[in-house]
Amino acid sequence: MQKPNETDSFRLLLEKKGLKFTRERRELIQEILRLKTHFDADGLHELLKSKGSQISRDTVYRTIPLLLECGVIQKSVGDGRREYFERTSVKGHHDHMVCIQCGKIIEFHSDLIEKIQTEVCSEYGFRLVFHDHRLFGHCKDCAGK
Ligand SMILES: [Zn+2]
Ligand SMILES: [Zn+2]
Repeated sequence: MQKPNETDSFRLLLEKKGLKFTRERRELIQEILRLKTHFDADGLHELLKSKGSQISRDTVYRTIPLLLECGVIQKSVGDGRREYFERTSVKGHHDHMVCIQCGKIIEFHSDLIEKIQTEVCSEYGFRLVFHDHRLFGHCKDCAGK
């Protein structure tokens, strides 16, 4: 199965919203497509600037929700002080369990949860765009302590 092109998904969404695929937005998505690990908005902005981009911090912050909406990125889990994101296509869509004792992060995917949340949303007449499940608790190692 061919993977949907991430740049195309982004461009389509911009088009739908009547927004332009500006040079800054192009630089932003091209940089994200090189990333294999999670990132935060400020780090991404620094990285772009170090490469000579004129993109403003504001543009980075305003573009992230668009990238979430078109599914190119999803929310990740970081140190709790900042919001982290990651490219959806690197590992496929997944959600997170966070150990509140040692900070360990477990990535999981459940077809059942994905399916049920779609059903719940439609019961509420809610059009789901993206989601972010974080389950907090004690990991296997910590639960025994
Ligand atoms: Zn999910
Ligand atoms: Zn733990």
